[in-house]
Amino acid sequence: MQRLHNQLRRIDGKGYKAYKDLQGSYRFDRFRLHIDHVQGDPFASPSRIRIEMSQSDLPLKAEWFNISSRQTAVEDFLARETARAIRQVNPLRRGTGKSGMIAVDEPGQEILKRTAVRIFEDKVELRLSVGLPAQGRRILAKEAERIFFVYLPSIVERAFFSFDETRLVKHVQLSDQQEAIRVYLKEHGLVAFVANGAILPRESGVSNRPMSKEQAVPFKSPPSMEVEISLPHGRTVRGMAIPRGITLIVGGGYHGKSTLLKALERGVYNHIEGDGREFVITDACACKVRAEDGRRVEKVNISPFISNLPFGKDTTRFSTDDASGSTSQAANIMELLEMGAKVLLIDEDTSATNFMIRDARMQRLVHKGKEPITPFVDKVRQLYEELGVSTILVVGGSGDYFDQADHVIMMDEYQPYDVTQQAKTIAETLRNNRQQEGGFSFGRITERAPRPDSFNPRKGKKEKVDAKGLHHIQFGKETIDLTFVEQLVDPSQTRAIANMIHMLAKKWVDGKRTLPEIINELYKQVGEKGPDVISPFYGQHPGDLALPRSFELAAAINRLRSLRINC
Ligand code: ADP
Ligand code: MG
Repeated sequence: MQRLHNQLRRIDGKGYKAYKDLQGSYRFDRFRLHIDHVQGDPFASPSRIRIEMSQSDLPLKAEWFNISSRQTAVEDFLARETARAIRQVNPLRRGTGKSGMIAVDEPGQEILKRTAVRIFEDKVELRLSVGLPAQGRRILAKEAERIFFVYLPSIVERAFFSFDETRLVKHVQLSDQQEAIRVYLKEHGLVAFVANGAILPRESGVSNRPMSKEQAVPFKSPPSMEVEISLPHGRTVRGMAIPRGITLIVGGGYHGKSTLLKALERGVYNHIEGDGREFVITDACACKVRAEDGRRVEKVNISPFISNLPFGKDTTRFSTDDASGSTSQAANIMELLEMGAKVLLIDEDTSATNFMIRDARMQRLVHKGKEPITPFVDKVRQLYEELGVSTILVVGGSGDYFDQADHVIMMDEYQPYDVTQQAKTIAETLRNNRQQEGGFSFGRITERAPRPDSFNPRKGKKEKVDAKGLHHIQFGKETIDLTFVEQLVDPSQTRAIANMIHMLAKKWVDGKRTLPEIINELYKQVGEKGPDVISPFYGQHPGDLALPRSFELAAAINRLRSLRINC
């Protein structure tokens, strides 16, 4: 502490660059402060510091993180507490640019594996960003002193030494209960669960927070689909269980179909208490699929859905710089299957019509020989029977799917009803006279090996690999557009993906190993060494990353326009 004092006194009023002298480690009363990186000027991205605490000094009980899901929950809790403490302490910001800011990578509605707070064997680490204060380019050492000797200790004290234990215990117990539902799904052949009382709609189209209790109609399961699950810590929940197989969500426009599907998409993540979706749990390998015209596609085998393109264009290794609605949706499905997706979530609102359906009249007018597309309706059953891949499909516009469905849920004024029997009866009495298309088996899924020359992180002389918000990644000269990768939920995941692609490109891509092989290899490392390994600052401050699923990582690689596949 004394050393830091002296240093600061010495550099007061000097040019900003003198701050660089602070880099290093300092012993405080209750923690060690590591100043890992000092920003170049007051406007640059803030300096990165770590607070290292000894686990035995903290009021943490080992049982709170004896399993990995609990550890994630406790780390998440402490990151939230830190953000709260920063707001309470409300550091005075005086000076130029980012002077005086103190920030932690604050979690949102989802509970993700993050690098903001990490619990290790014997220590706990908090990673913060700090704007070292300056007036113009002159160092304001008095202000810096206030940050290091007043604000920081106070934030650490509140968040780590005197947090509310009851709240932490509730956070851990919720995580246990969510895990229990995930296990229940696996053991009972289910793909999703939506608890009675869940609040599915969000407050607006651009918000991830729940609609107010006064406006929202709480979820209530149809009796025929209702199950009761007893959870740890003396709680039971009842709600709708969606079994494996093919499930349709039908109903009139504006009756809540897409809202239910959106909640299921997000159910691959755990949500915080009060979100409304804390007991909406979906199979971790459930993937949203949509049309995405304009995207690039590199040598994807889309032949199960599309063959006989004009001019004999190959569809077993289909590439395009500008996919159509139907070819993009086919490629999206095949890429997800390549990565091991187990449930497809599809909404007619964001699908290509000609990919989803082709009715009897159209079959009569445009012969199969002239139509390259085999519609999804002819493949959905094979996907399940042959590959064990279930589908949950929102469809208000075509009854052709009734023949294929195992379950039909109708949304009516935001309430679900089980209309499976009615739909089956209708399908039998009102034949649709379609011809089954596309052969008797699904077709092949081809794994692809990316070539090393796909990945060039350079832009000019420097490497440039960076996330820009939730939806974009700059990779060298390329921009990866993730706007339509809908299960990406946090910009910290996008940052992680940028780093992960860089890492894969440097270490593992060899033109021989396939995309799922190298991605699984990377996740194995993350499992063994923790999420810090995906930071370029490994060993130092990696504090603003959140782990994406392997599906979203693969999705980003597949959308890199310079991706090239060996074959
Ligand atoms: P659909 O896909 O059937 O056309 P949406 O799911 O898009 O309908 O929902 C239409 C509107 O109703 C949205 O504005 C949504 O926020 C709202 N909504 C959905 N579910 C509920 C609910 N349970 N309670 C209140 N409003 C809801
Ligand atoms: Mg809709």
